Amino acid sequence: MVLPVIYHEIYSQLELPEKHRYPILKYKFLYESLLSQFSQNIKIFHPNSVSLKKVFRVHDLEYINQLINNKLSLSKMRRIGFPWSEQLIKRTLLSTGGTCLTAEIAINHGVGIHCSGGYHHAHSSFGSGFCLINDLAIAAQSIIDQSLATKILIIDCDVHQGDGTATIFEKNPDILTLSIHCEKNFPSRKPNSDYDIPLEREMKDYEYLDYLKSIIPIIIKQNNVDFVLYDAGVDVHQDDELGYLKLTNQGIYERDFFILNLCKNLSLPVACVIGGGYRNNHQDLVPAHMQLFKAAIEVF
Ligand SMILES: [Zn+2]
Repeated sequence: MVLPVIYHEIYSQLELPEKHRYPILKYKFLYESLLSQFSQNIKIFHPNSVSLKKVFRVHDLEYINQLINNKLSLSKMRRIGFPWSEQLIKRTLLSTGGTCLTAEIAINHGVGIHCSGGYHHAHSSFGSGFCLINDLAIAAQSIIDQSLATKILIIDCDVHQGDGTATIFEKNPDILTLSIHCEKNFPSRKPNSDYDIPLEREMKDYEYLDYLKSIIPIIIKQNNVDFVLYDAGVDVHQDDELGYLKLTNQGIYERDFFILNLCKNLSLPVACVIGGGYRNNHQDLVPAHMQLFKAAIEVF
């Protein structure tokens, strides 16, 4: 089949201060690489901005109004880590719309991959760590609200714990959260997900994959999961500047292949986001993020 890929050019269009940590160009570089390597295997979809109605299902009304109108306090903006701009808000709403579209496409096609997304540090009433609003939470809630699934599992393999998603769905039995992350890393306070797998620093491919393969199938089976949202963050890579794990590109490929293949074999729709990945040279992130697409083309 042709793999549905969701992208918008705004993902790489944001002016940031010099030496800002956020890899703003990686989205564009990844997209260019996909077009040059896999143009026969993919179909591109462009999202619209998410509706505020969907955002308010997950987020605090006052927080979102202040965020959109540049009324957040300096300390709240500092916790987010971006200078406020209209473009930042536009980009955030489009990117969240992209994850929602990816989830809907996955329901219809079995799979969809968003070339953005994974803003898992956004809580209901505040943003944090480059995350303003939680696209994973909004997309999951929207799938439930449309009765397109009854039990969603969010598999978060970004190296950082999915603290925002964990607190948002703390008391929601329809949406389960699983975070596989490096224990000694941001965020310092890690509220409980439904399932947390904290890993020691320096962990390599073999041990990482062993954890993953032994745990995920059991969680899916025990809970009768009928939809998966997958955050395929590559900040688990050994060369990442914000992660402390030691995975290789091959390890990331095997991780992504395992999860996608498992979903396919169980006829579980799976919506993927690319998640985190931090290097000074944004182009260097492309090979790591490409593993998800290679695995998906292989599986589907
Ligand atoms: Zn991360």
